[in-house]
Amino acid sequence: MTEPEQNLPRSDADSTLLREAFEKFIVTGQMMEKAYLALQEKVEQLNLELEKKNDELSLQLAATELARDQLSDVLGSLQVAVVVFDGDGRVARLNRAAETLFGCAESAMLGRGMDALFAVRFAGMDGLHRLLATGQLVPETEVGQLNGLHSCVLRVSTHLMRGMDGAGEGRILLAEDITDLALRRRDAARSDRLTAMGEMAVQIVHEIRNPMGSIELFASMLQRDLADQPQHAELAKKVQEGIRGLNHVIGNLLSFAKGAHPVRDLVDLEELFHGALSDLEHQIERQQIKVTERFDADARFIRLDAELWRQVLLNMILNAVQAMPAGGELAVCCDREMIDGRPGAKLVIADTGEGMSADVRDRIFHPFFTTKDRGTGLGLALVHNIVKAHGGAIGVETAPGRGATFTITLPG
Ligand code: ADP
Repeated sequence: MTEPEQNLPRSDADSTLLREAFEKFIVTGQMMEKAYLALQEKVEQLNLELEKKNDELSLQLAATELARDQLSDVLGSLQVAVVVFDGDGRVARLNRAAETLFGCAESAMLGRGMDALFAVRFAGMDGLHRLLATGQLVPETEVGQLNGLHSCVLRVSTHLMRGMDGAGEGRILLAEDITDLALRRRDAARSDRLTAMGEMAVQIVHEIRNPMGSIELFASMLQRDLADQPQHAELAKKVQEGIRGLNHVIGNLLSFAKGAHPVRDLVDLEELFHGALSDLEHQIERQQIKVTERFDADARFIRLDAELWRQVLLNMILNAVQAMPAGGELAVCCDREMIDGRPGAKLVIADTGEGMSADVRDRIFHPFFTTKDRGTGLGLALVHNIVKAHGGAIGVETAPGRGATFTITLPG
């Protein structure tokens, strides 16, 4: 306290002190108000920033949700099956194509392992299990096999998927059913081989046809000359029959290699049938096969390639005869049939032979499919090609032990 103040009377000193204190208080109050205002400004600014951040976050969230939905749409529209496995190898996601391919709903698979996924449709596909069980990344690989009716080929690959929050890395499995493609590739390769083989066959056949013709002629002359020695004549007949059989096989091979290109003429189907029958008459007699036939007077005359149809009938009759080693009945009917609104013909060739299982029936028109020890598997493939080349259709009804009934429809 200053000197003069010490000399002031007590109440004056107090009031001075009080005034000073008030002044200080006012100054401090003003400072605090200023600070408060500054603070308020800061808070408002922070609020604004927070709002902005919130808006940005909402936008980001919306963008993330949109991206997630779009990813779902992309996954859903993919033809390729996509399965996501988490770090523990459990299914975390399955797109629609995967549901179809693996035959199970995503909801039923979530959290389950690879085995559960493959159990429905691919339990027997060893290659697939072995490939994926190693845990290694699999580059694009084809697994499965082409095996008649049970063909299935998959194209699979696996890829890494980053884990989140320190979780282990997941895997993405891509899988596609390429059975049709594999079949087409196989057929294309086969048809390349066939074309090359066909070209070679055509050359070989031309070389051996002439000597075979001579052998057949000499055998028939021999048979005639040996008329008084039936035992030897029989041998000459066998040679003749053998040559005819060979001629048949060679004819099939040649026609198959060349492809069916019909040159049409008005033809009598009944006459063609009798011609084919006479080529096999010895075998038919030997096996005591009864032949019945009925040809509609109008339907039997039809425009087709006589040479090709001789082969059709020969193959059909030969198959029927071979299916009845212990005898039976061969019935042939030819009737009128309206095809696509125009009159055509329906030819039915039925035998009472051994018939076929469904598995065999489904493959009889495939080239080189045969169940016979000495078959070529070309007969019905050729028949099929010729019928198709004439705009017709062929089908068969059969069962093991119940014979076979082939029906061919031909437009007029
Ligand atoms: P291939 O006679 O040389 O075997 P095909 O193409 O003519 O060749 O016949 C294929 C297969 O179809 C035969 O091996 C046989 O299993 C079956 N097949 C054809 N026709 C008949 C039939 N009439 N009865 C029973 N099976 C038949």
